[in-house]
Amino acid sequence: MKLRPYQQKNADEILACLARDVRGTLYVLPTAGGKTAVVVRGVIREVVNLGWPVIFLVHRRELLHQSVRTLARVGIKASVVDPDHDPDPLALVHVCSIDTLKARKKRLAGWLRTIRLVVIDEAHHTVAPGWQALLEMLINAQRVGVSATPFRGDGKPLGALFDEVVRGPTVAELTPKWLCPAEIWAPWTPDLTSVTISRGDYAASDLERVMNNDTVTRLAVNQYAARMPGEPAIAFCVSVDHARYVATQFSAAGWQAVSVDGNMDPDARDAAIQGLASGRYQVLTSCEIVSEGTDVPVVAGAILLRPTKSVLKYMQQVGRVLRICHGKTRACIIDIAGNVELHGLPEADRVWTLESGLVPQVHRTIRCPKCHRRFAPGPFCPSCRHEFRYWDRPAVPMLTTMADSAIRAMPTADLERIAVSVIDLNRIARVKGFNPGWVRHATERMRDRQNERRRA
Ligand SMILES: [Zn+2]
Repeated sequence: MKLRPYQQKNADEILACLARDVRGTLYVLPTAGGKTAVVVRGVIREVVNLGWPVIFLVHRRELLHQSVRTLARVGIKASVVDPDHDPDPLALVHVCSIDTLKARKKRLAGWLRTIRLVVIDEAHHTVAPGWQALLEMLINAQRVGVSATPFRGDGKPLGALFDEVVRGPTVAELTPKWLCPAEIWAPWTPDLTSVTISRGDYAASDLERVMNNDTVTRLAVNQYAARMPGEPAIAFCVSVDHARYVATQFSAAGWQAVSVDGNMDPDARDAAIQGLASGRYQVLTSCEIVSEGTDVPVVAGAILLRPTKSVLKYMQQVGRVLRICHGKTRACIIDIAGNVELHGLPEADRVWTLESGLVPQVHRTIRCPKCHRRFAPGPFCPSCRHEFRYWDRPAVPMLTTMADSAIRAMPTADLERIAVSVIDLNRIARVKGFNPGWVRHATERMRDRQNERRRA
């Protein structure tokens, strides 16, 4: 299979970084955009032809064999390094779990020095303890990190492991040719005022109280029946208990439902996930396990029952269902967690930089009072055509929330796009050292944009 045009372009850009001896390159592409194809077909295959020893790092053991199979499909025989296997001296490509390498880095130090390229899947995990030390031991290796969400869960930057970024297309640019358009239904928003925040996110124990009950679950079941009856869907829950309860309630309502969790036997878990793909199950409920690295393109729906403050978690959950698949015309997202209201639509334009991480932004959406569809502000509800007379309220200014360092790091064109006042433009000019002439011209451009928006 050939790479898609954008995948080939991005692969060439990554190879160009390697050729320029860039130490750390971060490749950013939305979930379901096919990043594995880019790194495996576009990058690893090329450097293997040059005889480079490569490590492909995954952060969970379940992904080891999946990655070996992916490499095998392009004719690369990779060895697995896990608790039961040391590196195979005859292989050029080694798929390793990060935990194994961290535990054995002293013993494997000599071998680590021979590696020329380390590819880091889901590179947003590199902020976890132990990564820095491990990557420093790969002294002769260039790094290529891959992520859909190139910042930490709290939006902070990934740190000093990467020097350059290759930006793939955004969710909006990939839709509808390469990703399914998302359709959001938001019948209810939980009241989270009493929920405590722990390590930057809602505490699961408190969420359980708000989300794990009859009323909320019945709402989820009814919405599923109304919006996508019988279609394969994943429900994202707060805890293992919650996931089990939701599955029971779906089953009681006559649907084929199953819950999966990390304590299950891996074969049973895989069978459940495959059952969703084959039609044996209609609804799969889970708290964490299916939010990363699970590829079931046929899944057409996400039921969000786990409120989160982490845009990373949110994007991973909705990203699961955006994958295109024959016969699938849209991704249906039933949001009972208030996540879309908080984080914006999946295709919202998120601004981030390597230096400052995710720039805080308000992604405004509106909810139709008649049919409960949630969508980008506009004069009509896209589903029932309900008319909104006062939809174009001004966006909350976000430049005011940014630190000078973040402004300095961000490209001027991006800053201009989010500026809503002359005060904003003056601040950009002060931080970036632009002259008053720039402010004058930028003000004209801003007014033009605002008029255009008003006319739209
Ligand atoms: Zn409506």
